[in-house]
Amino acid sequence: MASIKENIKNIQSQITNAAADCGRNPESIQLIAVSKKKSVEKIIACIDAGGSHFGENYMQEAVQKIDTIGKNRATWHFIGHLQSNKAKIAVQYFDYIHTVDTVKLAREINKQAKKTNKIQSIFLQVNIGDENSKSGTNIDQAVELASLINVFENVSIQGLMCMPPFFDDPELARSYFKKLVIIRKEIDDQKFSNVTMAHLSMGMSNDFKVAIQEGSTMVRVGTSIFGKRD
Ligand SMILES: *Cc1c(COP(=O)(O)O)cnc(C)c1O
Repeated sequence: MASIKENIKNIQSQITNAAADCGRNPESIQLIAVSKKKSVEKIIACIDAGGSHFGENYMQEAVQKIDTIGKNRATWHFIGHLQSNKAKIAVQYFDYIHTVDTVKLAREINKQAKKTNKIQSIFLQVNIGDENSKSGTNIDQAVELASLINVFENVSIQGLMCMPPFFDDPELARSYFKKLVIIRKEIDDQKFSNVTMAHLSMGMSNDFKVAIQEGSTMVRVGTSIFGKRD
């Protein structure tokens, strides 16, 4: 089995090649190593190999790991489903929250961020495949959600996040990524004061190359770096 260091190098060069192939600057694409259910030791091996951004899904697990590793040693992304009652801890520990899909959650994040004068970077998660099993705002409510969250002064919407249905053939994910790009433009066209739409958080181990071709700026890769999860 390849080491984490080899895997990181390998993924990073695949990102660089995918970007070059479609005329994009590789530096405009951030690799987020998804470390859910993976040990502190493995995360540190990843940091030693040059990894600097990590994605976690489960709050309690994440907090323990971040406390052990040190918050300032990396940039931390919350990519799991977030309940409002965990907003406080999310704001405390995470640089980015990718999974905001209701006004209620954004309001709570705003309230907690205000207490420490933080401007919390968030993404709006869109349920791009309209799947019952997945979180995210409905496609046709994304613009309205952005307008409602725009008024919260202590959150800053940085872009959109999606998780298409899983396909063995990554080509089949392409149309979903294209849809997210269209929604991004619709929101961008509104020129909301507190919304940048600078980022698209899309692409996982199986489909990140297609996501990059469609404009992803943050790819969330777990299995291809850390191996299969139990
Ligand atoms: C687990 C997870 C990933 C990583 O998936 P892999 O297929 O292991 O690369 C990415 N994004 C989210 C939201 C996840 O939950």
